Formats: sequence, C-alpha cells, structure tokens
Amino acid sequence: MVRKERAIVNHIQLERSANGIAHLIFDRHESTANIFDETTLTELNEQLASLEQSSPKGLILRSAKPSIFIAGADIKSILSNPDPSEVDRLIKLGQDVFQRLAELPFPTVAAIHGACVGGGYEITLSCDYRVASPDGSTKIGLPETNLGLLPGWGGSTRLPRLIGLPKALTIILGGKTLPAVYAMKLGMIDKVAPKENLIFLAERYLSRGKAKRRRYGFLNSRFVARILKARVGKKVMAKTRGNYPAIPKALEVVTQCAQGSLANALSIERDAAKELAATPETKNLIRVFFLQERARKQVYAKDLKELPAIQRAAVIGAGIMGAGITQWLSNRGLPTILTDIHPDQLAKGMATIHKLYQAGVKRRVFSATKALRGLDRVSPALSTTSLPRVDLVIEAAVETLEIKKKIFQDLDQQTSPHTILATNTSALPVSDIATATSRPDKVIGIHFFNPVHRMQLVEIVVGEQTSPETVQRVLTFVQSIGKLPVICKDHPGFIVNRILLPYLIEAGRLFDEGAEIGAINRAMLDFGMPMGPLRLIDEVGMDVAVHVAKTLQTAFGDRLSAPPILQKLVDAGLLGRKSAKGFYRYDSKGKETPNPEAQALRRQTGATPSDQELQERMAGLMVAEAQRCLKEGVISSADDIDLAMIMGTGFAPFRGGPLTYATSLSHKPQS
Ligand code: NAD
Repeated sequence: MVRKERAIVNHIQLERSANGIAHLIFDRHESTANIFDETTLTELNEQLASLEQSSPKGLILRSAKPSIFIAGADIKSILSNPDPSEVDRLIKLGQDVFQRLAELPFPTVAAIHGACVGGGYEITLSCDYRVASPDGSTKIGLPETNLGLLPGWGGSTRLPRLIGLPKALTIILGGKTLPAVYAMKLGMIDKVAPKENLIFLAERYLSRGKAKRRRYGFLNSRFVARILKARVGKKVMAKTRGNYPAIPKALEVVTQCAQGSLANALSIERDAAKELAATPETKNLIRVFFLQERARKQVYAKDLKELPAIQRAAVIGAGIMGAGITQWLSNRGLPTILTDIHPDQLAKGMATIHKLYQAGVKRRVFSATKALRGLDRVSPALSTTSLPRVDLVIEAAVETLEIKKKIFQDLDQQTSPHTILATNTSALPVSDIATATSRPDKVIGIHFFNPVHRMQLVEIVVGEQTSPETVQRVLTFVQSIGKLPVICKDHPGFIVNRILLPYLIEAGRLFDEGAEIGAINRAMLDFGMPMGPLRLIDEVGMDVAVHVAKTLQTAFGDRLSAPPILQKLVDAGLLGRKSAKGFYRYDSKGKETPNPEAQALRRQTGATPSDQELQERMAGLMVAEAQRCLKEGVISSADDIDLAMIMGTGFAPFRGGPLTYATSLSHKPQS
C-alpha cells in the first residue's frame, strides 16, 4: 500500500509505503528529463524538511522517467544569469539541499535507472547507498569538466571520499560517465540489479542502517594529493596545452577537497565553480553542448515529421568509408547489405567491420553479445540484385563522377521506387549524380567523416531537386543512428572540407616558405586543433589533398589552389602515412619525425614566422572561408558552421568554432 502525500506536485513526489519507507520520486512536470533548477531544489528542500519531521524508516530516491534518473543541473537557467552573485547563490542552494539530505537521521539510498549524471550523480553521493540497473540507458558520472565546469554540488568533495582520490580524479578530470557495471567496479555505486528488482535491493540496503564513512587515510592524504597534483598536472598540461582552465582547476580543487572539513571543502568547490562559470572557455563549451542538443532534435519540415522510418539499408563500396558506415548502421540495429564489385575488397571490408566490432568490445563501448548481434545484421553481396527491399542506399564507392553516375543508374533499376539513394561523396555535386536516376527528388548526400565510429558529424547535402520529404526522412535517420546532422546546400566541398582546405594549403605554403614542420604543427596544436595541419595532410594523403584542392579550385578559382610544393611531394611519392613518408617519416611503429626529403623540395625563402603569425595565417583563412559560406547561404546559420567545424575537424571547441572565434577577436582590445 502506497500513500501519496501530495496529489498535485511539480517535479518531486513524496510517497510512503506501508513498511514505513519514504520514496522521493523525481518526475519533472511536462518534461521527458529530470533536471535540477532553482524550483526543483527548493521543492526538494521542502520535502526533506517534512521528512525530517516524520522520520521514516528510510528513504529511497528514484525517478518516474523511463530512461532518466536525473540528468544534472539546468545549466541554461543557472549559468545564463549575468549576475555572478546569483550563480553563487544557486550553487550554494544545491550544496545546502544535498547536505541536508546527507544529514538525515535515517538511511537513504538512490535507486538509479537511466542517466544519472552531473548534479544527478552528486545528489546520490549524499545518500548512504547507491544501487543501479544495468540498462543501456543507465550512465553514471560527472561530465562537468567537458563543459568547462567542475562538480560544484559536493561532487568534487564527496567522490574522492567515496572511492579514493586517484579514481575520483580519473572520473572528474576525464568528465567520465560509465555504464552501471563499470561504475560499480570503481565503487561509485554499491550494487547492480535489474530494474524490476531495484526497489527490493534498495530496501535491503536500507535495513543496514546509516552507512559508515569510508576512510582513505593514506590515499587521500595531503602527501598523496601533492604527488598526484604534480604528476597529473604535468599530463593535463601536455594534453590541454593550457586551453581548458576547468581541468587544472578541478585537479587543484579535488586534491584539496579530498581531506579536511566538509564545510571548508564545499566552500572551495563553490568558489571554483563560480570562477569557472564566468570564463569565456566555459561559455563556449556550454554553447557547443546546446548546439549539439539542437542538432539532435532539429526538424527540417514540421508537417513531415511522421514519415516512415528507415528500417533496412544498403551500402555500396566496401572500402574505408563503406565498411565504417556498415559497422555503424548494423550496430545501431539496422539490417545492412554491403556490396562491392571486387570480391577481395568485399572480404577486406567484412574483415574491417569485424575488427571495428572487436575494438568496440575491447574499449567496452558495447558487449561481445551486442557485437555478435551487430555482425549478424550485415549481409555481404557482390551485386545489387538483393536491394529491392531496402529503404536507403548509401553509396561509398570511388570518388569519380562517372562511376558514381553509373552506380546510381543501376540503383535506380534495382531498388523500389520509394528507396532513398544517398551518396557519401566528399566533394562531387549531388545534383549531377541525381541526373543519372529517374528520382532526383530521392537523391541526397549523406556525408560521413573518417573514421565513422569516432566522428559524430554528418553533413546532409540537399541537391537542387531533393524533396523536403527526403531531407526530413534522412535527417530523422541520421539522428536515430546517433550522429549529429548539419544540413547544407550542394555547393563544392559542402561545409567542412571547403573551410578546412584553405587552412591545409596555407600550412603547405608556410612550409614552402621555410617555416619548420614542427613549428607549424605546434602552433596549431597550441591553438587547440587536435592534430597539426601537416600531420593531418599526411593522414588524409597528399594526393587526396591535392585532388580535393583541384576540385575546389575549379569551383572557386585560385583562392583555393594548392601550392606547387604539394604536387612536388606527390610526384616524389611522399603521399603521407600510407607511403610511410610525407611531411613526416613514419617508422614501423608509426612514430613520426620530420622528413628531410620533403624539406629538400621546398623553396625556402628563409621566412621564420612567429607562432602568432602562423596561427593568424592558418586560422584566419578558415574564418574567411566560413564567413563566405555563410554569406553564400550554403548553410543556414553561423551556429551550424561552428558546430560543423568543431565536430567535423575538432576546431578548438573552447574557442566556440571559427565564427565565434572571429567575433572574439573583434572584441579583443588592441595591444
Ligand atoms: P575506398 O577506395 O577505400 O573504397 C572504395 C570502394 O568502392 C572499393 O572497395 C572499391 O572496390 C569499391 N567500388 C568501386 N567501384 C564500385 C562499384 N561500381 N560498385 C561497388 N563498389 C565499387 O574509398 P573510401 O575512402 O572509402 O571513399 C569512398 C567514398 O567516400 C568516396 O566518395 C570518398 O570521397 C568519400 N569519403 C571518403 C572519406 C575518407 O576519408 N576516406 C571521407 C568522407 C567521404
């Protein structure tokens, strides 16, 4: 028998069961997610006050949402407040309410099913026990540093006291969220049980009474904290190059808060959270987070939302991209046919898919059983005769217009008239490819990036005749497979390659003029790019870079022509990593050193630009091209360009993308 305490509640319901146990059930009104904002925290505070008076046998925290426990703080409402003292007040409110929960005189347990992250996990740290379901939706952790923040509602203080300082640093500095089983291994939760048994398990924990405080005397001592701070600090600096203030700050705070008085630790945590919330890096990272959310939910045509879902797919071409796309689709539950005209290439593609699944299991992205099920969904084929039942074909064969047109002509015959025909072309005009079919309204570009399993971005390229129905179905499809879509027009290079290319060719030009390979790469790593531009050309392939430049030069003129040095390097067989030689030489272990053969081929004008000049020249060209794309209407908003460049190339996220970076420069005081 359960007695409801309030008939109408906003976000949290208090119920009491006949066995004297109280339940706080999080169920945010008119929302699919539970989050903490001022109203919820105030409501929770009231509920806790009433529980203090009634003293039940124990308290269980749970959620009524199907796949979310509590997804954290309502960052938008808390951090959009321009008044820092207001931000401070809200951080303090959260800390005080969670502390009130921790001080309840009866045992408390969080029964976690679904996302339990950020503030959602911090509240469970104030409970005596934590139990969770092993469901795929259950993710547990503290991702705040990914947003330029740190756990400020007690997480930075309580996690090291729960699992020990070294493990807490791994979670907090890495911004990690983990499946329940791994969270249990680290001690972040006490036990895992199927969703149906969670409450039973929670009640068993309550019968143990209040939890005893864990002691990590030596692990959390000032001595160990000092050593860890120095050691981890060095690694963090090498990785972030000083561009992400939240990481060193979190290191400082967590090592400081692992021991000593709780009140003092919470106040250190609060000051740090408030300080970070005001930095431009944090503002940019939070904006990127919301841009991703927007991309995941965007709609192209509201009235077309209910179109039939894509249920079966085929991929043409079993090369790098075809294999990567097939693995991704099959892992997301889609039966997928993979075809190639060459049997050996098809076999190679299947082997690549197998390897990708094995690597995923090794990295614990999914279980071995899930990998096997995924592999079972892939059907290799040497012809296109088996395609009549598929809803979508993605062509990923060689980048030649004539070959692609032939393939589309064949697909037009072999598939049912409702099938959408997509190309993964990097730069060829989708509208030209569509002319080979009798259904140009159902032809579209779905441009995945390499490697498919790591790159979240997908450009959806709308051809001249692509219908809104096709765009909307493909948009929903891309969202359903967990990728981030940006929609763009069918202009040469689309968005990402067009903006990236001027940057890469400028790096080639600087090299030709005499700038050192190491200096060029270092300057852009310091700028915040994940890889230096010359290393990136080596990865992509010198010949591929020259080929893309030629395609874009035809469309845009000399502005996008590759400097002659790149062709010289191609002619000398210095193609990059695939030939073990490019700007760098790669030894058998893949370690790189600058290649003297490449250096011997350049003009050497003796130029030695400073790091700042290098950055300004290379990043400046990306900015200029991004501004042109926006002006020409290739994409509908500056936000989408920023998102595409961050997710498609790793453009320094803390700078907010090329257009936000440009705005920040124009606001910078001139020195
Ligand atoms: P790849 O050379 O690795 O593979 C191409 C495959 O297509 C080969 O296995 C080949 O046998 C097969 N093929 C050729 N003609 C075919 C036909 N008529 N029917 C079926 N299969 C055929 O190429 P890739 O790197 O995987 O690129 C594929 C496409 O994806 C290209 O359009 C490329 O521009 C684009 N793309 C590539 C990347 C990248 O980084 N490699 C990134 C994004 C997009």
